[in-house]
Amino acid sequence: MLLQIHEPGQTPAPHDQDRGLAVGIDLGTTNSVVALAIGDRAEVIRDEKGDGLLPSVVAYGADGSVLVGEKASEQLLDHPEGVVSSIKRLMGRSAADLKQLGGALPYDLDETTGIGMVRLKIRGRRLTPVEISADILRAIKARAEARLGQDVDRAVVTVPAYFDDAARNATKDAARLAGLEVLRLVNEPTAAALAYGLDHEAEGVYAVYDLGGGTFDISLLRLEKGVFQVLATGGDAALGGDDFDHLIAERFLAERKKAGIAEAIDSSEAKNLLVAARQAKEALTDADQGSWEIAIGGKTTRHALNRAEFETLIAPLVKRTANLVRGVLEDAGIEVAAVKGVVLVGGSTRVPLVRHSVADLFGLEPLADIDPDEVVALGAALQAQALTQGGGALLLDVTPLSLGIETMGGIVEKVIPRNTPIPVGMAQDFTTYQDGQTGMLIHVLQGERETVDQCRSLGRFELRGIPPMTAGAARIRVTYAVDADGLLTVAAEEKTTGVKAHIEVKPSYGLSEDDMARMLRDSLENAREDMERRLLIEARVEAQRVLLALDAALAADGALARPEERQTMEKAAQRLKAAIAGEDRDLINGLVEELEKAGKPFAQRRIDRAINSALAGHRLDEIEADVAPERVPPA
Ligand code: ADP
Ligand code: MG
Repeated sequence: MLLQIHEPGQTPAPHDQDRGLAVGIDLGTTNSVVALAIGDRAEVIRDEKGDGLLPSVVAYGADGSVLVGEKASEQLLDHPEGVVSSIKRLMGRSAADLKQLGGALPYDLDETTGIGMVRLKIRGRRLTPVEISADILRAIKARAEARLGQDVDRAVVTVPAYFDDAARNATKDAARLAGLEVLRLVNEPTAAALAYGLDHEAEGVYAVYDLGGGTFDISLLRLEKGVFQVLATGGDAALGGDDFDHLIAERFLAERKKAGIAEAIDSSEAKNLLVAARQAKEALTDADQGSWEIAIGGKTTRHALNRAEFETLIAPLVKRTANLVRGVLEDAGIEVAAVKGVVLVGGSTRVPLVRHSVADLFGLEPLADIDPDEVVALGAALQAQALTQGGGALLLDVTPLSLGIETMGGIVEKVIPRNTPIPVGMAQDFTTYQDGQTGMLIHVLQGERETVDQCRSLGRFELRGIPPMTAGAARIRVTYAVDADGLLTVAAEEKTTGVKAHIEVKPSYGLSEDDMARMLRDSLENAREDMERRLLIEARVEAQRVLLALDAALAADGALARPEERQTMEKAAQRLKAAIAGEDRDLINGLVEELEKAGKPFAQRRIDRAINSALAGHRLDEIEADVAPERVPPA
């Protein structure tokens, strides 16, 4: 029974002049990327150094500071206990889910939360993956706003095709927490296909081969009337470029052993070793050979590696990806020859062996001219533009997993099958099984299996107030509606009397509205406190700098200061030192100014003398070195 299906293009959001910009965000396991589309071109937004990738790493400091990206990765050596990476793997997972994974996680989990969302204990804080992801998204938003000079308040965010409702909800919550309205969640392979404009290509099946840092995903998409459906997905959540790094690192270590260096390495040395291995790997994408230095335990060794040797090392892993691709094709009943195009996604598809192996496998040259670690964000940006500016083709996504309802005996009846284009609404009629039954429990489930215990429970609610009737007489229509983001609302109505009930299904792993409100409040309050703290710290640092400069100047040129000047400066310095110990930022800043004013004549005399000695034939850099520690008052 089909209630309604919107056609693509029928509900374009109106163009809103007063709003901020809408960007596309690839929130990756290893790296995240943000892009903006203008006209029909999408471009990655880079930081001031030109980096488009932001490592998805967050470092929480003991002082309450939060660092994201490269700066967070740097903390790994000194404060690994405060650093979180690969948080995407935990999105939408409960503590119970993770126990099933065997508990080999590098995090301290909070045990008190039972079936709710998992929390990590990090340096005294208890953080959900949603909050940690929100910190990454805040950094992304800040990067985009700094670069574009405008507010960025809306985004299309990509998620893996296999993400279930809980993980999608968690992603959406994270964006909201970061101050971003999610225009739509789009599947990563679909975004990649959009970036290549495949939605304008011939109808048929396309493959997206995504080999990132820690995960391998293969997706088959069917394009029909400009709409992509995810036909099948597969992969390995523990196979990626990081494994290539490990193989190289092991080889280098074995070589050291052969050279007679037997050693036990600690975790920060292992980190250094992996950094060298990663550099070797990435260099061998372009170069045929090279050599890399490893310094551990005071012993430095140099290791040569060429492309062929590297390929021998990783060949078994690359072969494994090929086998997974064949398996997914087979499951979907699709011949390799029927695949019209293959898109390469993920930094590790830069490795030449990976590229060649994909070409061999499909018998066609893969699409690879868009940067493989930017392609997903670019597709998302195009989608954000289509959704905000109208005009562009609106893309339909599909439900990743079937949605069903529990019926008698713990059986799951599917209401919306997987791969149904969304938004969609579908209904099914049920009846009572007992005479005089006045309530009915609606249990909403997600998954492909037939029994309740093997599907994921998304929520339950009760329809009450059914007038007593004989069993089988009531007609209860249960409607499932999935919106464009893949989120579900369930409604139930008894048709003969019109009694209604409904819930918006937020899986139990999601955040309640209360949680969400609290987190938003906390984050705003913390932002203000963080800012105050930072300004105070900056004021102290500046004051110390001025004091040091004064000491140095007096030590070097004390003779140039008149005794009464010297006294005033020293008195001002004393007061400033006392203020630094306190918390009053304005006082510190005021005293710094006072000290600088008191020192002005002295500073001027030093400059004059420096210029004179320059005329006497000194080198310019010497003079600058002499004058630099002073703050020279503006003329
Ligand atoms: P994710 O999707 O997991 O966030 P990415 O798509 O950003 O990850 O891929 C990161 C991986 O790509 C890392 O293992 C990195 O070493 C690898 N990579 C990046 N550039 C190159 C290169 N030039 N050659 C080989 N591997 C690369
Ligand atoms: Mg990726």
